[in-house]
Amino acid sequence: MIYDVIIIGGGVIGCCIARTLSKYDLKIALLEKEADISMGTTKANSGVVHAGYAADRQYIKRHLSIHGNKLYTQAYRELNFPFQRIGSFVVAVEDSQIKDLEDERKKGIQDGVPNLELIFDKKRIKHMEPSLTDDVVAVLHAPTAGLVSPYELTFALAENAAMNGVKFFRSHEVVKIKHTDYTFSVRTLRDEFKCRNLINAAGLYAANISKMLGLDYFDIMPRKGEYILFDRNAMHLNKILFPIPTVVSKGILVCPTLHGNTFVGPNAQNITDTEDTSTTEAGLKEILEGAKKLVPNLPLRASIRNFAGLRAVPNTHDFIIDNTDVYGFINVAGILSPGLTSCFAIAEKVEEFLELLGVVMKVKEDYNPIRPRPERFKDLSKKELDKKIQEDASWGKIICRCEVIPEKEILDAIHAPVGARTVDGVKFRCRPGMGRCAGGFCRPRVIEILSRELNLSYEEVTKKGEDTNYLICHTKDLLLNEINKGEEAE
Ligand SMILES: Cc1cc2nc3c(=O)[nH]c(=O)nc-3n(C[C@H](O)[C@H](O)[C@H](O)COP(=O)(O)OP(=O)(O)OC[C@H]3O[C@@H](n4cnc5c(N)ncnc54)[C@H](O)[C@@H]3O)c2cc1C
Repeated sequence: MIYDVIIIGGGVIGCCIARTLSKYDLKIALLEKEADISMGTTKANSGVVHAGYAADRQYIKRHLSIHGNKLYTQAYRELNFPFQRIGSFVVAVEDSQIKDLEDERKKGIQDGVPNLELIFDKKRIKHMEPSLTDDVVAVLHAPTAGLVSPYELTFALAENAAMNGVKFFRSHEVVKIKHTDYTFSVRTLRDEFKCRNLINAAGLYAANISKMLGLDYFDIMPRKGEYILFDRNAMHLNKILFPIPTVVSKGILVCPTLHGNTFVGPNAQNITDTEDTSTTEAGLKEILEGAKKLVPNLPLRASIRNFAGLRAVPNTHDFIIDNTDVYGFINVAGILSPGLTSCFAIAEKVEEFLELLGVVMKVKEDYNPIRPRPERFKDLSKKELDKKIQEDASWGKIICRCEVIPEKEILDAIHAPVGARTVDGVKFRCRPGMGRCAGGFCRPRVIEILSRELNLSYEEVTKKGEDTNYLICHTKDLLLNEINKGEEAE
Protein backbone atom coordinates (compact mmCIF):
# COMPACT_ATOMS: atom_id res chain seq x y z
CA MET A 1 0.00 0.00 0.00
CA ILE A 2 1.24 3.50 -0.77
CA TYR A 3 0.17 6.14 1.77
CA ASP A 4 -0.64 9.66 0.59
CA VAL A 5 1.10 11.08 3.66
CA ILE A 6 3.41 9.64 6.31
CA ILE A 7 4.28 11.70 9.39
CA ILE A 8 7.46 10.88 11.32
CA GLY A 9 7.12 11.72 15.04
CA GLY A 10 4.24 11.35 17.46
CA GLY A 11 4.74 14.47 19.57
CA VAL A 12 2.17 17.25 19.75
CA ILE A 13 3.28 18.53 16.33
CA GLY A 14 3.07 15.19 14.47
CA CYS A 15 -0.24 14.29 16.13
CA CYS A 16 -1.72 17.75 15.44
CA ILE A 17 -0.74 17.46 11.77
CA ALA A 18 -2.23 13.93 11.68
CA ARG A 19 -5.50 15.13 13.18
CA THR A 20 -5.72 18.18 10.91
CA LEU A 21 -5.15 16.09 7.79
CA SER A 22 -7.52 13.35 8.96
CA LYS A 23 -10.49 15.35 7.70
CA TYR A 24 -9.37 14.76 4.11
CA ASP A 25 -9.87 11.69 2.01
CA LEU A 26 -6.20 10.66 2.29
CA LYS A 27 -4.37 7.52 3.42
CA ILE A 28 -2.22 8.66 6.34
CA ALA A 29 0.20 6.92 8.72
CA LEU A 30 2.23 8.19 11.67
CA LEU A 31 5.48 6.48 12.69
CA GLU A 32 6.82 6.92 16.23
CA LYS A 33 10.07 5.46 17.55
CA GLU A 34 8.99 5.18 21.19
CA ALA A 35 6.50 2.64 22.60
CA ASP A 36 3.98 5.46 22.92
CA ILE A 37 3.22 8.84 21.45
CA SER A 38 3.89 12.06 23.38
CA MET A 39 6.99 10.74 25.16
CA GLY A 40 9.54 13.24 23.71
CA THR A 41 9.67 17.00 24.37
CA THR A 42 5.86 17.05 24.51
CA LYS A 43 5.92 15.05 27.75
CA ALA A 44 7.87 17.56 29.87
CA ASN A 45 7.35 21.28 29.35
CA SER A 46 5.55 24.18 31.01
CA GLY A 47 2.20 23.56 29.31
CA VAL A 48 1.58 27.26 28.78
CA VAL A 49 -0.49 28.42 25.81
CA HIS A 50 1.31 31.71 25.42
CA ALA A 51 -0.47 34.90 24.41
CA GLY A 52 2.18 35.16 21.69
CA TYR A 53 3.91 38.54 22.13
CA ALA A 54 7.21 37.15 23.46
CA ALA A 55 9.18 36.19 20.32
CA ASP A 56 10.83 38.78 18.04
CA ARG A 57 8.85 40.02 15.07
CA GLN A 58 11.41 38.64 12.60
CA TYR A 59 10.51 35.07 13.60
CA ILE A 60 7.58 33.06 12.23
CA LYS A 61 7.18 31.52 15.68
CA ARG A 62 5.77 34.87 16.90
CA HIS A 63 3.07 35.00 14.25
CA LEU A 64 2.23 31.28 14.47
CA SER A 65 1.89 31.43 18.24
CA ILE A 66 -0.42 34.48 18.16
CA HIS A 67 -2.63 32.68 15.62
CA GLY A 68 -2.18 29.30 17.33
CA ASN A 69 -3.41 30.68 20.64
CA LYS A 70 -6.68 31.71 18.98
CA LEU A 71 -7.13 28.28 17.37
CA TYR A 72 -7.23 26.65 20.81
CA THR A 73 -10.78 27.88 21.41
CA GLN A 74 -12.34 25.71 18.71
CA ALA A 75 -9.95 22.81 19.22
CA TYR A 76 -10.87 22.68 22.91
CA ARG A 77 -14.57 22.50 22.05
CA GLU A 78 -13.96 19.65 19.63
CA LEU A 79 -11.30 17.61 21.41
CA ASN A 80 -12.16 17.99 25.09
CA PHE A 81 -8.61 18.16 26.48
CA PRO A 82 -7.74 19.99 29.73
CA PHE A 83 -7.32 23.70 28.84
CA GLN A 84 -8.09 26.96 30.61
CA ARG A 85 -7.28 30.60 29.80
CA ILE A 86 -6.25 31.81 33.26
CA GLY A 87 -4.02 34.66 32.01
CA SER A 88 -0.36 35.43 32.67
CA PHE A 89 1.66 38.15 34.39
CA VAL A 90 5.14 39.25 33.35
CA VAL A 91 6.39 40.75 36.58
CA ALA A 92 8.57 43.86 36.82
CA VAL A 93 10.31 44.29 40.17
CA GLU A 94 12.36 47.37 39.17
CA ASP A 95 11.24 50.61 37.53
CA SER A 96 13.91 50.13 34.83
CA GLN A 97 12.01 47.03 33.57
CA ILE A 98 8.78 48.90 32.84
CA LYS A 99 9.87 50.30 29.49
CA ASP A 100 10.43 46.76 28.12
CA LEU A 101 6.94 45.73 29.23
CA GLU A 102 5.41 48.81 27.61
CA ASP A 103 7.21 47.98 24.31
CA GLU A 104 5.99 44.38 24.45
CA ARG A 105 2.45 45.56 25.08
CA LYS A 106 2.43 48.00 22.16
CA LYS A 107 3.93 45.55 19.67
CA GLY A 108 1.69 42.75 20.93
CA ILE A 109 -1.46 44.80 20.40
CA GLN A 110 -0.31 45.86 16.92
CA ASP A 111 0.24 42.17 16.04
CA GLY A 112 -3.18 41.05 17.23
CA VAL A 113 -2.67 39.89 20.83
CA PRO A 114 -5.97 40.83 22.51
CA ASN A 115 -6.42 42.78 25.77
CA LEU A 116 -2.78 43.16 26.80
CA GLU A 117 -2.69 45.46 29.78
CA LEU A 118 0.10 47.04 31.82
CA ILE A 119 -1.00 47.27 35.46
CA PHE A 120 0.74 49.54 38.00
CA ASP A 121 -1.85 49.52 40.81
CA LYS A 122 -0.18 47.29 43.39
CA LYS A 123 -3.40 46.73 45.32
CA ARG A 124 -5.13 45.50 42.18
CA ILE A 125 -2.16 43.34 41.23
CA LYS A 126 -2.08 41.69 44.66
CA HIS A 127 -5.83 41.20 44.57
CA MET A 128 -5.46 39.39 41.26
CA GLU A 129 -2.50 37.32 42.53
CA PRO A 130 -2.05 37.39 46.32
CA SER A 131 1.03 35.08 46.27
CA LEU A 132 3.09 37.56 44.26
CA THR A 133 6.14 39.27 45.80
CA ASP A 134 5.66 42.65 47.50
CA ASP A 135 8.54 43.90 45.35
CA VAL A 136 6.28 44.02 42.26
CA VAL A 137 6.15 47.45 40.60
CA ALA A 138 4.09 46.55 37.52
CA VAL A 139 2.82 43.54 35.54
CA LEU A 140 2.02 42.92 31.91
CA HIS A 141 -1.29 41.04 32.02
CA ALA A 142 -2.15 38.77 29.08
CA PRO A 143 -5.65 37.38 29.74
CA THR A 144 -5.58 35.09 26.68
CA ALA A 145 -2.62 33.05 27.99
CA GLY A 146 -3.70 29.66 29.22
CA LEU A 147 -2.75 26.29 30.58
CA VAL A 148 -2.97 23.00 28.73
CA SER A 149 -2.03 19.45 29.64
CA PRO A 150 0.39 18.84 26.74
CA TYR A 151 0.24 15.05 26.74
CA GLU A 152 -3.54 14.91 27.24
CA LEU A 153 -3.86 17.29 24.28
CA THR A 154 -1.61 14.98 22.24
CA PHE A 155 -3.58 11.86 23.17
CA ALA A 156 -6.80 13.67 22.24
CA LEU A 157 -5.34 14.66 18.85
CA ALA A 158 -4.16 11.10 18.19
CA GLU A 159 -7.45 9.52 19.26
CA ASN A 160 -9.43 11.81 16.98
CA ALA A 161 -7.00 11.25 14.09
CA ALA A 162 -7.30 7.47 14.57
CA MET A 163 -11.12 7.72 14.73
CA ASN A 164 -10.89 9.39 11.33
CA GLY A 165 -8.69 6.73 9.79
CA VAL A 166 -5.05 7.66 10.51
CA LYS A 167 -2.91 4.58 11.24
CA PHE A 168 -0.47 4.84 14.15
CA PHE A 169 2.68 2.69 14.28
CA ARG A 170 4.47 2.94 17.60
CA SER A 171 7.91 1.37 18.32
CA HIS A 172 8.74 2.17 14.68
CA GLU A 173 12.01 4.09 14.59
CA VAL A 174 12.72 5.43 11.11
CA VAL A 175 16.27 4.47 10.17
CA LYS A 176 16.46 4.96 6.39
CA ILE A 177 14.57 6.87 3.70
CA LYS A 178 14.84 6.57 -0.10
CA HIS A 179 13.11 8.78 -2.66
CA THR A 180 12.62 7.45 -6.18
CA ASP A 181 9.90 8.07 -8.81
CA TYR A 182 8.02 10.49 -6.53
CA THR A 183 7.70 7.77 -3.89
CA PHE A 184 9.37 7.62 -0.47
CA SER A 185 10.42 4.25 0.97
CA VAL A 186 10.62 4.67 4.72
CA ARG A 187 12.39 1.89 6.60
CA THR A 188 11.80 1.47 10.31
CA LEU A 189 13.43 -1.05 12.64
CA ARG A 190 10.38 -3.28 12.07
CA ASP A 191 8.97 -2.67 8.61
CA GLU A 192 9.03 -0.72 5.37
CA PHE A 193 6.40 1.88 4.36
CA LYS A 194 5.78 3.74 1.11
CA CYS A 195 4.26 7.18 0.62
CA ARG A 196 3.96 10.10 -1.80
CA ASN A 197 4.44 12.83 0.81
CA LEU A 198 6.58 12.68 3.93
CA ILE A 199 6.45 15.02 6.91
CA ASN A 200 9.34 15.23 9.33
CA ALA A 201 8.13 16.10 12.82
CA ALA A 202 10.84 14.19 14.68
CA GLY A 203 11.63 16.83 17.32
CA LEU A 204 15.17 16.55 18.65
CA TYR A 205 15.98 14.08 15.85
CA ALA A 206 14.52 16.07 12.95
CA ALA A 207 17.96 17.05 11.55
CA ASN A 208 18.91 13.33 11.38
CA ILE A 209 15.73 12.55 9.42
CA SER A 210 16.35 15.47 7.03
CA LYS A 211 19.93 14.26 6.48
CA MET A 212 18.61 10.82 5.45
CA LEU A 213 17.41 12.60 2.28
CA GLY A 214 20.64 14.58 1.85
CA LEU A 215 19.12 17.79 3.25
CA ASP A 216 21.77 19.03 5.64
CA TYR A 217 20.82 22.69 6.05
CA PHE A 218 20.08 22.95 9.78
CA ASP A 219 21.12 21.53 13.13
CA ILE A 220 19.17 20.89 16.30
CA MET A 221 20.73 21.21 19.74
CA PRO A 222 19.11 20.04 22.98
CA ARG A 223 18.54 22.71 25.65
CA LYS A 224 17.53 21.31 29.01
CA GLY A 225 14.93 22.84 31.31
CA GLU A 226 14.55 21.52 34.86
CA TYR A 227 11.44 21.71 37.04
CA ILE A 228 10.28 21.16 40.63
CA LEU A 229 6.68 20.02 41.08
CA PHE A 230 4.65 20.65 44.23
CA ASP A 231 1.81 18.47 45.47
CA ARG A 232 -1.81 19.16 44.63
CA ASN A 233 -3.36 21.93 46.73
CA ALA A 234 0.00 22.87 48.32
CA MET A 235 -0.62 26.43 47.12
CA HIS A 236 -3.11 28.25 44.97
CA LEU A 237 -2.15 30.53 42.08
CA ASN A 238 -4.57 32.50 39.92
CA LYS A 239 -2.06 33.45 37.21
CA ILE A 240 0.93 32.09 35.30
CA LEU A 241 3.87 34.14 36.61
CA PHE A 242 6.84 35.03 34.40
CA PRO A 243 9.86 37.15 35.25
CA ILE A 244 11.27 39.60 32.67
CA PRO A 245 12.57 37.25 29.91
CA THR A 246 16.25 36.56 29.16
CA VAL A 247 17.84 36.25 25.70
CA VAL A 248 17.57 32.43 25.69
CA SER A 249 14.30 31.80 27.50
CA LYS A 250 11.17 33.24 29.05
CA GLY A 251 12.81 32.77 32.45
CA ILE A 252 11.81 30.75 35.50
CA LEU A 253 8.05 30.58 35.97
CA VAL A 254 5.85 29.91 38.95
CA CYS A 255 2.83 28.22 37.49
CA PRO A 256 -0.25 26.21 38.44
CA THR A 257 -1.28 23.09 36.55
CA LEU A 258 -4.76 22.07 35.55
CA HIS A 259 -4.62 19.18 38.01
CA GLY A 260 -4.11 21.44 41.05
CA ASN A 261 -0.30 21.18 41.34
CA THR A 262 2.18 24.06 41.15
CA PHE A 263 5.59 23.94 39.45
CA VAL A 264 8.65 26.16 39.25
CA GLY A 265 11.11 26.16 36.33
CA PRO A 266 12.48 25.77 33.75
CA ASN A 267 16.09 26.88 33.56
CA ALA A 268 17.96 26.72 30.24
CA GLN A 269 21.18 24.75 29.75
CA ASN A 270 22.68 23.88 26.37
CA ILE A 271 23.75 20.23 26.42
CA THR A 272 24.86 17.66 23.83
CA ASP A 273 23.08 14.44 24.86
CA THR A 274 19.56 14.26 23.36
CA GLU A 275 18.50 11.72 26.02
CA ASP A 276 19.81 13.51 29.14
CA THR A 277 16.76 14.42 31.20
CA SER A 278 18.56 14.20 34.55
CA THR A 279 18.13 16.93 37.15
CA THR A 280 21.07 18.48 38.99
CA GLU A 281 21.58 20.10 42.39
CA ALA A 282 22.86 23.29 40.76
CA GLY A 283 19.92 23.40 38.38
CA LEU A 284 17.32 22.93 41.12
CA LYS A 285 19.02 25.64 43.21
CA GLU A 286 18.92 27.99 40.22
CA ILE A 287 15.19 27.49 39.64
CA LEU A 288 14.32 27.88 43.32
CA GLU A 289 16.27 31.15 43.50
CA GLY A 290 14.57 32.40 40.34
CA ALA A 291 11.09 31.37 41.49
CA LYS A 292 11.45 32.97 44.93
CA LYS A 293 11.89 36.36 43.25
CA LEU A 294 8.26 36.02 42.08
CA VAL A 295 6.75 34.07 44.99
CA PRO A 296 8.83 34.25 48.18
CA ASN A 297 6.71 31.68 50.09
CA LEU A 298 6.97 28.51 48.05
CA PRO A 299 5.57 25.32 49.68
CA LEU A 300 9.01 23.66 49.74
CA ARG A 301 7.94 20.76 51.98
CA ALA A 302 5.29 19.77 49.45
CA SER A 303 7.77 19.17 46.62
CA ILE A 304 6.93 15.76 45.12
CA ARG A 305 9.05 15.44 41.98
CA ASN A 306 11.86 16.99 39.92
CA PHE A 307 12.03 16.46 36.18
CA ALA A 308 13.56 17.95 33.05
CA GLY A 309 12.52 18.46 29.43
CA LEU A 310 14.65 19.08 26.35
CA ARG A 311 13.96 21.89 23.90
CA ALA A 312 14.85 21.14 20.26
CA VAL A 313 16.78 24.33 19.49
CA PRO A 314 17.55 24.93 15.80
CA ASN A 315 20.64 26.90 14.76
CA THR A 316 18.24 29.28 12.93
CA HIS A 317 16.54 30.10 16.30
CA ASP A 318 13.16 29.89 14.59
CA PHE A 319 10.72 27.16 13.57
CA ILE A 320 11.82 25.44 10.34
CA ILE A 321 8.66 24.71 8.35
CA ASP A 322 9.74 24.09 4.76
CA ASN A 323 8.51 22.57 1.56
CA THR A 324 11.99 21.26 0.75
CA ASP A 325 13.88 20.65 -2.51
CA VAL A 326 12.97 16.95 -2.26
CA TYR A 327 9.49 16.95 -3.83
CA GLY A 328 6.87 15.92 -1.26
CA PHE A 329 9.18 16.18 1.76
CA ILE A 330 8.17 18.76 4.38
CA ASN A 331 10.40 19.61 7.34
CA VAL A 332 8.61 20.68 10.52
CA ALA A 333 11.68 21.01 12.70
CA GLY A 334 13.18 23.07 15.48
CA ILE A 335 9.81 23.47 17.13
CA LEU A 336 11.00 24.91 20.40
CA SER A 337 8.79 27.06 22.63
CA PRO A 338 6.12 28.25 21.83
CA GLY A 339 5.56 25.08 19.77
CA LEU A 340 2.77 23.78 21.94
CA THR A 341 0.97 27.11 21.57
CA SER A 342 1.52 27.12 17.81
CA CYS A 343 0.64 23.48 17.00
CA PHE A 344 -2.71 24.18 15.30
CA ALA A 345 -1.24 27.04 13.25
CA ILE A 346 1.75 24.87 12.25
CA ALA A 347 -0.64 22.13 11.09
CA GLU A 348 -2.50 24.71 8.93
CA LYS A 349 0.83 25.64 7.32
CA VAL A 350 1.47 21.98 6.48
CA GLU A 351 -2.03 21.79 4.96
CA GLU A 352 -1.14 24.76 2.69
CA PHE A 353 2.14 23.12 1.63
CA LEU A 354 0.37 19.88 0.69
CA GLU A 355 -2.11 21.86 -1.39
CA LEU A 356 0.81 23.55 -3.16
CA LEU A 357 2.24 20.10 -3.87
CA GLY A 358 -0.99 19.23 -5.69
CA VAL A 359 -2.39 16.81 -3.11
CA VAL A 360 -6.17 16.56 -3.58
CA MET A 361 -7.63 17.81 -0.27
CA LYS A 362 -11.24 16.65 -0.38
CA VAL A 363 -13.04 16.68 2.98
CA LYS A 364 -14.49 13.26 3.88
CA GLU A 365 -18.24 13.08 4.25
CA ASP A 366 -17.97 11.09 7.47
CA TYR A 367 -15.27 13.26 9.10
CA ASN A 368 -15.99 13.59 12.83
CA PRO A 369 -14.02 16.35 14.60
CA ILE A 370 -15.35 15.46 18.05
CA ARG A 371 -13.33 13.44 20.50
CA PRO A 372 -15.57 12.69 23.50
CA ARG A 373 -14.42 13.90 26.92
CA PRO A 374 -12.99 10.98 28.94
CA GLU A 375 -15.21 10.31 31.95
CA ARG A 376 -13.48 11.13 35.24
CA PHE A 377 -14.35 9.91 38.75
CA LYS A 378 -13.54 13.34 40.21
CA ASP A 379 -16.05 15.07 37.90
CA LEU A 380 -18.99 12.90 39.00
CA SER A 381 -21.46 13.64 41.80
CA LYS A 382 -22.06 10.98 44.46
CA LYS A 383 -25.39 10.11 42.86
CA GLU A 384 -23.83 9.74 39.42
CA LEU A 385 -21.04 7.61 40.86
CA ASP A 386 -23.42 5.30 42.68
CA LYS A 387 -25.26 4.71 39.44
CA LYS A 388 -22.03 4.07 37.53
CA ILE A 389 -20.75 1.63 40.17
CA GLN A 390 -23.99 -0.32 39.99
CA GLU A 391 -23.65 -0.59 36.22
CA ASP A 392 -19.89 -1.34 36.24
CA ALA A 393 -18.04 -2.30 39.43
CA SER A 394 -14.68 -1.10 38.02
CA TRP A 395 -15.84 2.47 38.76
CA GLY A 396 -15.69 1.59 42.44
CA LYS A 397 -12.21 -0.01 42.53
CA ILE A 398 -9.76 2.76 43.39
CA ILE A 399 -6.34 1.88 41.99
CA CYS A 400 -4.45 5.13 42.62
CA ARG A 401 -5.24 6.52 46.05
CA CYS A 402 -3.21 9.75 45.73
CA GLU A 403 -5.03 10.88 42.58
CA VAL A 404 -8.23 8.87 43.21
CA ILE A 405 -8.28 6.94 39.95
CA PRO A 406 -10.66 3.98 39.58
CA GLU A 407 -9.92 0.91 37.49
CA LYS A 408 -12.49 2.06 34.93
CA GLU A 409 -10.41 5.09 33.91
CA ILE A 410 -7.38 2.82 33.41
CA LEU A 411 -9.42 0.40 31.29
CA ASP A 412 -10.66 3.33 29.18
CA ALA A 413 -7.06 4.57 28.73
CA ILE A 414 -5.94 1.14 27.54
CA HIS A 415 -8.88 0.56 25.19
CA ALA A 416 -9.03 4.07 23.67
CA PRO A 417 -7.93 4.49 20.04
CA VAL A 418 -4.07 4.62 20.18
CA GLY A 419 -4.49 3.41 23.77
CA ALA A 420 -1.91 2.91 26.51
CA ARG A 421 0.47 -0.05 26.17
CA THR A 422 2.89 0.76 29.01
CA VAL A 423 2.77 1.87 32.65
CA ASP A 424 3.83 5.40 31.63
CA GLY A 425 1.20 5.36 28.89
CA VAL A 426 -1.47 4.74 31.56
CA LYS A 427 0.08 7.28 33.93
CA PHE A 428 0.10 10.11 31.40
CA ARG A 429 -3.41 9.34 30.12
CA CYS A 430 -5.23 9.16 33.45
CA ARG A 431 -2.69 9.94 36.22
CA PRO A 432 -2.12 6.82 38.40
CA GLY A 433 1.40 7.37 39.74
CA MET A 434 1.33 11.15 39.33
CA GLY A 435 0.64 11.78 43.01
CA ARG A 436 2.66 12.07 46.19
CA CYS A 437 3.62 8.37 46.46
CA ALA A 438 4.86 8.34 42.82
CA GLY A 439 3.21 5.00 42.07
CA GLY A 440 4.45 3.13 45.17
CA PHE A 441 0.96 1.74 45.82
CA CYS A 442 -0.69 1.61 42.43
CA ARG A 443 2.12 0.49 40.09
CA PRO A 444 1.75 -3.28 40.78
CA ARG A 445 -1.99 -2.94 40.20
CA VAL A 446 -1.46 -1.09 36.92
CA ILE A 447 1.00 -3.81 35.80
CA GLU A 448 -1.63 -6.41 36.65
CA ILE A 449 -4.33 -4.60 34.66
CA LEU A 450 -2.08 -4.05 31.62
CA SER A 451 -1.07 -7.71 31.72
CA ARG A 452 -4.69 -8.88 31.87
CA GLU A 453 -6.09 -6.47 29.27
CA LEU A 454 -3.30 -6.77 26.70
CA ASN A 455 -2.70 -10.46 27.25
CA LEU A 456 0.92 -9.96 28.28
CA SER A 457 2.88 -11.81 30.95
CA TYR A 458 3.90 -9.66 33.95
CA GLU A 459 7.49 -9.78 32.67
CA GLU A 460 6.38 -8.31 29.32
CA VAL A 461 4.79 -5.21 30.84
CA THR A 462 7.20 -2.26 30.64
CA LYS A 463 7.53 1.24 32.03
CA LYS A 464 7.99 2.79 28.59
CA GLY A 465 8.96 0.14 26.04
CA GLU A 466 11.95 -2.05 25.32
CA ASP A 467 14.38 -2.74 28.18
CA THR A 468 12.26 -1.00 30.81
CA ASN A 469 10.58 -4.12 32.23
CA TYR A 470 9.70 -3.97 35.92
CA LEU A 471 9.60 -7.70 36.59
CA ILE A 472 12.30 -10.06 35.44
CA CYS A 473 11.28 -13.47 36.72
CA HIS A 474 9.20 -15.26 39.38
CA THR A 475 11.67 -15.20 42.29
CA LYS A 476 9.69 -17.77 44.26
CA ASP A 477 9.84 -20.21 41.33
CA LEU A 478 13.61 -19.75 41.19
CA LEU A 479 13.93 -20.59 44.88
CA LEU A 480 11.54 -23.52 44.60
CA ASN A 481 13.57 -24.92 41.69
CA GLU A 482 16.75 -24.68 43.76
CA ILE A 483 15.06 -26.41 46.73
CA ASN A 484 13.69 -29.16 44.48
CA LYS A 485 17.13 -29.70 42.91
CA GLY A 486 18.68 -29.98 46.37
CA GLU A 487 16.02 -32.50 47.48
CA GLU A 488 16.51 -34.61 44.33
CA ALA A 489 20.30 -34.72 44.93
CA GLU A 490 19.72 -36.00 48.49
C1 LIG B 1 11.47 23.02 29.16
C2 LIG B 1 10.46 23.30 28.07
C3 LIG B 1 9.41 24.17 28.28
C4 LIG B 1 8.49 24.45 27.26
N1 LIG B 1 7.41 25.20 27.53
C5 LIG B 1 6.51 25.46 26.56
C6 LIG B 1 5.34 26.21 26.83
O1 LIG B 1 5.07 26.55 27.97
N2 LIG B 1 4.53 26.53 25.81
C7 LIG B 1 4.80 26.15 24.54
O2 LIG B 1 4.05 26.53 23.65
N3 LIG B 1 5.85 25.37 24.25
C8 LIG B 1 6.70 25.01 25.23
N4 LIG B 1 7.78 24.22 24.98
C9 LIG B 1 7.97 23.72 23.62
C10 LIG B 1 7.08 22.52 23.32
O3 LIG B 1 7.19 21.57 24.35
C11 LIG B 1 7.55 21.93 21.98
O4 LIG B 1 7.47 22.93 21.01
C12 LIG B 1 6.73 20.73 21.52
O5 LIG B 1 6.53 19.80 22.55
C13 LIG B 1 7.47 20.09 20.36
O6 LIG B 1 6.75 18.98 19.93
P1 LIG B 1 7.30 18.04 18.78
O7 LIG B 1 6.20 17.17 18.39
O8 LIG B 1 7.99 18.86 17.74
O9 LIG B 1 8.50 17.24 19.48
P2 LIG B 1 8.46 15.88 20.34
O10 LIG B 1 7.43 15.92 21.36
O11 LIG B 1 9.86 15.64 20.79
O12 LIG B 1 8.04 14.80 19.27
C14 LIG B 1 8.93 14.29 18.31
C15 LIG B 1 8.70 12.80 18.25
O13 LIG B 1 9.47 12.24 17.18
C16 LIG B 1 9.88 10.96 17.57
N5 LIG B 1 11.03 10.56 16.75
C17 LIG B 1 12.28 11.06 16.77
N6 LIG B 1 13.07 10.41 15.88
C18 LIG B 1 12.29 9.48 15.29
C19 LIG B 1 12.54 8.48 14.30
N7 LIG B 1 13.75 8.29 13.75
N8 LIG B 1 11.51 7.67 13.92
C20 LIG B 1 10.26 7.82 14.47
N9 LIG B 1 10.00 8.76 15.43
C21 LIG B 1 10.99 9.57 15.83
C22 LIG B 1 10.24 11.15 19.05
O14 LIG B 1 10.29 9.93 19.76
C23 LIG B 1 9.14 12.09 19.52
O15 LIG B 1 8.04 11.40 20.08
C24 LIG B 1 8.68 23.88 25.97
C25 LIG B 1 9.72 22.97 25.77
C26 LIG B 1 10.57 22.65 26.83
C27 LIG B 1 11.61 21.60 26.64
